[in-house]
Amino acid sequence: MNAENPATHVPSWQGLPAAQQPEYPDRAALREVVTELESYPPLVFAGECDQLRARMGAVARGEAFLLQGGDCAEAFDAVSADQIRNKLKTLLQMGAVLTYAAAVPVVKVGRIAGQYSKPRSKSTETRDGVTLPTYRGDSVNGFEFNEQARVPDPERLKRMYHASAATLNLVRAFTTGGYADLRQVHAWNQDFVKSSPSGQRYEQLAREIDNALNFMKAAGTDPAEFRTVEFFASHEALLLDYESALTRVDSRTGGLYDVSGHMVWIGERTRQLDGAHIEFASKINNPIGIKLGPTTTVDEALTYIDRLDPEREPGRLTFIVRMGADKVRDKLPELVEKVTASGATVAWVTDPMHGNTFEAASGHKTRRFDDVLDEVKGFFEVHKALGTHPGGIHVELTGDDVTECVGGGDEIFVDDLHQRYETACDPRLNRSQSLDLAFLVAEMYRD
Ligand code: PEP
Ligand code: MN
Repeated sequence: MNAENPATHVPSWQGLPAAQQPEYPDRAALREVVTELESYPPLVFAGECDQLRARMGAVARGEAFLLQGGDCAEAFDAVSADQIRNKLKTLLQMGAVLTYAAAVPVVKVGRIAGQYSKPRSKSTETRDGVTLPTYRGDSVNGFEFNEQARVPDPERLKRMYHASAATLNLVRAFTTGGYADLRQVHAWNQDFVKSSPSGQRYEQLAREIDNALNFMKAAGTDPAEFRTVEFFASHEALLLDYESALTRVDSRTGGLYDVSGHMVWIGERTRQLDGAHIEFASKINNPIGIKLGPTTTVDEALTYIDRLDPEREPGRLTFIVRMGADKVRDKLPELVEKVTASGATVAWVTDPMHGNTFEAASGHKTRRFDDVLDEVKGFFEVHKALGTHPGGIHVELTGDDVTECVGGGDEIFVDDLHQRYETACDPRLNRSQSLDLAFLVAEMYRD
C-alpha cells in the first residue's frame, strides 16, 4: 500500500453532481485539509477489504449471514473505551446468538470508526423562530443549535480521521486481544441486560455454548478460531472530499481502495445513477453497499450491477433494502426476481430501521420495535417465496441502555423516550432490543 496522491487517480467524480455535500465557506481551507489527509496513513489495509469482499461473497452465495450494526451517527465526544466496548459487546452477543441459534457463519461489520457524516432530508432547521443549517454529523458541523456551530468546518474532516483511527485501534484490541474469546460469552452480558428477558435468554444460550466448548476441549480440540473475532468497519461514503483523500493505490494490485473503512455504502439520498457517489464507488475495490428505498426501480438495480459489479463477483455488491414494513412485501419481490434472473449474485440485506421512522407526540424521532421486526419478517418471507437468500441485517444500535425506539421485550413506552434519548441523529435499538432482535432473526433464519 502506498500513499500516492489519489486526486490523480480518482478525478472522475469531481465534475459530477454530488448530493448532500457541505457548503464550505472557505474552499482554500478545504483544499489544504484534503492535501493533509492525502498524506495520512491508511486506516485499513486493502488486503482486509479483499478479505471482507470474500466473506460477503459467502453471504451472497447463501453460505453466511451479515450482521452490520452501530450508531446512526458516531460522535467525536463518544469515542470512549466504555461506549466502544458496549457497542462491541452488543454485536458480539448478537453474533453469538445468530451463530449458535441459526447455525450459520456470521460476518460481523460495525457501523463504526467512520460513521460521522449524515445525509439530511432538510437543509435547515427552525427552533423558536430561528432557522439554521441542519446538523450534518460531527465530520461537518456542530450539533449545538447556534449559528457558529452549524457552519461547515473542514478541520472536522481531520478530527473524523483521528476519531476513526482511535476507535479502530480499540476495536482491533478488543476483537483480537482476548476480550472476544468465545469463553467470554458470559462476560459480554452486562448487568442491566442480565435482568431483562432477553438477557436471561442469552444466559441460557451462553451456558449451552460453554457446554459445547467444554465438550470440545475434553474431546481434545480447542480451536484458535474461538479466541479472536474477525470484525470489520463500515460507514456511509458520503463526504467525497474525505473518502477520495483516503483512496489509495494498492501496491499489490495497482487497484484503488478507499482505506477509510473496509466496506462503504452509498445512501438512499446519494445513489443517483448520474451522480458523483456512484461514480466514486465504481472506481474503488472495497465491498460496496447501496441502500435501496421503496422507489427503487428494477432498471436502477440492474444499472447499479452494471456500474459497480461488471465482473459479477459475489461479494462486491450488497443491496441494503430499506423499504418500510408496509412496503417491503410489495416492492422487494420484483427487484429480487429480476436481479436474480439477470445472473448477478448480490448480497441482499435488510435495513429495517430507515423505512420505519416516525415522530412521537413528544417530538422525538423514534421507531417501533414491532415495525422493525415486521420489516425483517417481510424480507425473509420474500426471499423464502423466491428461493433466494436473506443475507443479513443492517441495524442502528448502541450498547447503552438508551430509550430511543419503542417496544421490545423489556418494553420502552412513548412516555419513556425522554429518559435516555441520546442519539445525534436517528433512534437506535438499545442493548436489550438488539438482543431480542437477534433471537427473533435466528428463529426466522432457522424456519
Ligand atoms: C443511515 O444509514 O443512517 C441512512 C441515512 O440511511 P438511508 O440512506 O437508507 O436513508
Ligand atoms: Mn440513520
